Amino acid sequence: MTPEEFRTAGREVIDWIASYMERVEQYPVMSRVRPGEVRDLLAAHPPEHGEPFSSILDDLERIIVPGITHWQSPNFFAYFPANSSAPAILGDLLSSGLAVQGMLWSTSPACTEVETHMLDWLVEMLGLPARFASTGSGGGVIQDTASSAVLCALVAARERATQGRSNETGAPGNLTVYTSTQAHSSVEKAVRIAGLGSDQLRLIEVDDAFAMRPDSLAEALETDRANGQLPCFVCATVGTTSSMAIDPLAAIGPLCHDSGAWLHVDAAMAGTAALCPEFRSMHAGIQWADSYSFNPHKWMLTNFDCSAFYVADRAALVGALSILPEYLKNKPTESGAVIDYRDWQIPLGRRFRALKLWCVIRSYGVERLRAMVRQHVAWARELATWIEQSSSFALATPASLNLVCFYHRDGDEATRAIMDRVNASGRLFLTHTRLGERLVLRMAIGQANTTRAHVERAWDVLHETARQVEKQEDAGNPASS
Ligand code: PLP
Repeated sequence: MTPEEFRTAGREVIDWIASYMERVEQYPVMSRVRPGEVRDLLAAHPPEHGEPFSSILDDLERIIVPGITHWQSPNFFAYFPANSSAPAILGDLLSSGLAVQGMLWSTSPACTEVETHMLDWLVEMLGLPARFASTGSGGGVIQDTASSAVLCALVAARERATQGRSNETGAPGNLTVYTSTQAHSSVEKAVRIAGLGSDQLRLIEVDDAFAMRPDSLAEALETDRANGQLPCFVCATVGTTSSMAIDPLAAIGPLCHDSGAWLHVDAAMAGTAALCPEFRSMHAGIQWADSYSFNPHKWMLTNFDCSAFYVADRAALVGALSILPEYLKNKPTESGAVIDYRDWQIPLGRRFRALKLWCVIRSYGVERLRAMVRQHVAWARELATWIEQSSSFALATPASLNLVCFYHRDGDEATRAIMDRVNASGRLFLTHTRLGERLVLRMAIGQANTTRAHVERAWDVLHETARQVEKQEDAGNPASS
């Protein structure tokens, strides 16, 4: 493709994306294709000769779009959002255009320096402790996901606990890790990848609000220490996946400090709320954290992937992950005056992700990002009041930030039947979890283009569907049929 052909195709692609943005609401939110249906439409063999780009775009519409679940639909309320924005898309495109691989400062100084600067901006924007800034003892880096962030934190914690001698000492056999029963599955995955067994992971009980109980954590730490274990890592969650519960950092932090365990705070979804000073109480006690992560790719209009990961002591992270082979040696690295982000992550290579963050923050300004968060939280609270007043549904837990968890009063079967029907209708998409024994629907309000009217309409659809399910139950047919 020549630069001139690229210009033509590029304009077509931008036009296509803009038109997709305009019509995304018209599609059923959840893709309706059957397993294998997309693949059946793809050419069985790679083409021997190149094709015009326009025929690829035609097939995008014909083959790909039907197989898309429309995460950017304003009626997408499932999981946690992965919201996006035009400035972030353009930033990503610029990153692809420059196509640098920023493993070392010297392989593209701007890639490193913009990233360091954006992560410092985020410290200021979220009111995070100054020691997470590059000007303090720590610093931030962009990881692909919160899962990679917790894994890097755990490896740094493991090396700190064993002083890098894990094999000689027989550790990590006696290292123990703690997180709540409500923590994200990425914590257990990290434990396995870091070479610790799942039997070295302690799942700490939660209170009525599904937040970690510090007394249970204290007891587990004490028991393990008495049995010769070495408490190494605690992962607290600010905004759990199931119900957006907030673990009490102010009580957990001193326990970690006293036992020598590394405290990682996973605020993958909720972290963005700290843009607004009125929500920062969720971070009370954050000064105890050795590391922290949140995902601008969830709720801060920055296209996937972009997970901000901070450490209070960068030497601990770099010490754990840095191996310098001859072929990567260079003068700036040797000078000690630069950051080489390859030492802050698992892969060697890395994209210029900070560009999209730069585009988002500069295009919207912090005030507009705050305004979006405030609206989503306000609508979630409003939805919670409608649920409270409803004779069909009940809240499973008070709405927390932008997540509302609720269930049908007739029980799990009715709750599931409503979810299945609503999702099959294509008019919205929401997902479930279990809180205690109960099946619960989760409605996460975080899409860039969701308005109050979408939330209101989603509630109407849920209500109408509940009526149908109730009628069916009254007629003696099980809800699920
Ligand atoms: N932590 C929490 C609290 C989450 O809710 C999620 C995903 O929803 C994750 C971690 C994992 O996120 P990622 O996909 O960035 O690994």
